[in-house]
Amino acid sequence: MSIVSRNPSTGKIIKQFESYSDEFVDGLISNSYFSYKELKKFSINRRTKCMMAVANILNEESEKLGKILTQEMGKTHKSAIAEIKKSALGAEHYAVTAKDYMADEIIKTNALKSYRSYQPLGPILAVMPWNYPVWQVIRFAAPAIMAGNTVLLKHASNVTQCALYLEDIFKRAGFPDGVFQTLIISSAKVERVLRNENVRAATLTGSEIAGSSVAAICGQEIKPTVLELGGSDAFIVMPSADLEKSAAVGTIARTQNNGQSCIAAKRFIVHAEIYEAFKEKLIKNFISLKIGDPMNSETDIGPLVNPSSLKEVLDQVKDALDCGAQLLCGCKSIEGPGCFLQPGIIEKIPMSARIYREEIFAPIAGLYKVKSMQEAIELANDSPFGLGSSVWTADLDEQKQAINDIEAGATFINAMTSSDPRLPFGGVKRSGYGRELAAEGLRAFCNIKTVSISE
Ligand code: NAP
Repeated sequence: MSIVSRNPSTGKIIKQFESYSDEFVDGLISNSYFSYKELKKFSINRRTKCMMAVANILNEESEKLGKILTQEMGKTHKSAIAEIKKSALGAEHYAVTAKDYMADEIIKTNALKSYRSYQPLGPILAVMPWNYPVWQVIRFAAPAIMAGNTVLLKHASNVTQCALYLEDIFKRAGFPDGVFQTLIISSAKVERVLRNENVRAATLTGSEIAGSSVAAICGQEIKPTVLELGGSDAFIVMPSADLEKSAAVGTIARTQNNGQSCIAAKRFIVHAEIYEAFKEKLIKNFISLKIGDPMNSETDIGPLVNPSSLKEVLDQVKDALDCGAQLLCGCKSIEGPGCFLQPGIIEKIPMSARIYREEIFAPIAGLYKVKSMQEAIELANDSPFGLGSSVWTADLDEQKQAINDIEAGATFINAMTSSDPRLPFGGVKRSGYGRELAAEGLRAFCNIKTVSISE
């Protein structure tokens, strides 16, 4: 079966790849296991040197690699470069901090000496999405490898060139060949990899359906998993907020990455006192966004990833309008080649509409009006998801209330939700479990070994 990279701006095939055979995949898994043994012998300083080289290559080749990202999944070239540079920072973060994150932790007991020791697990399968094709991979792989694990990457089928480029970077950086390997396989072949006894754990970033399938198999195989799934993040704006700034940041938070980000602000929950003023500013911002060729530095919004994604979004919009929601701007597909969609805003979304509870993976904002912070939090929590949240208020009590009561993996006050290698990242409810980034991201794939030494 062939795996295809297709340019979402033109609809044209860029490249096709033959899927790896089962036997070839088995060989790569053995190689991964062998390399794990080899990597265990590397001093932390040697791993650091190689990971710094990964960071340097990402920085040096951000233009070239960025072009591949834009061609394969449609993000603007400038945002592709920013993603790659952020990934370099992520690699550098773990190159520098892994030693501390993995240091033994002494615990006083009756024994002569007792402590927590962080040890690698072995080969780990990473099933990754196309939306941040470099960052999603690096944010898992850098800590996992610094801890001494090896990585088998099953990337989304539309970004295979990107996956192979990453494999090549890890080799050029000085890591042994089997430390980071790409598996060119369809999602139907993931189960076979998970059932291989040399694969010790798995991480998946993607949709609920894929996450639940991987977790079910790993449950049967008693293998740990981290799941980073979808989100429908609330962006709450209260009367004391800086309206100009919240509307400007809200526009970016909803439309960045062509609206295809798990932590995008998807539901704007705005206090009645400022609802009309905020709405006016948001509409003005959305209308001024430039849609077009993602290679052009003037472009704000490129295409959605593929025709089926565009159709799904248009179906969600139609359903909301059929249920009685009101269209404020945009939300229409653009004639011609490519999967282009006007960014848009919808208000008065009833509970019966699909987008009241579903994630909408496109630059389309839902506006909701509330009378209090309490009501805003209840609405924010009335979602199967719990990834990020962003709350705009100068009132300290309201800030505290939001931090305590919003059911999400993160609450950002007066800022948009974003990921940072220094802070843990992950969700609750159907947004997944486990954490990436910070010390948690490295320890997620460690055996936390108890050591107790007596006389
Ligand atoms: P997806 O369809 O679930 O694909 C993600 C990965 O899973 C791909 O590699 C895909 O392979 C594979 N996959 C699909 N079905 C599978 C199955 N049944 N078993 C095993 N693997 C399977 O998701 P997507 O459309 O690429 O990504 C968008 C979703 O990811 C959104 O919901 C978004 O919110 C979420 N996301 C979450 C985070 C986070 O950090 N929480 C970050 C980014 C994205 P194929 O491509 O071969 O199908």
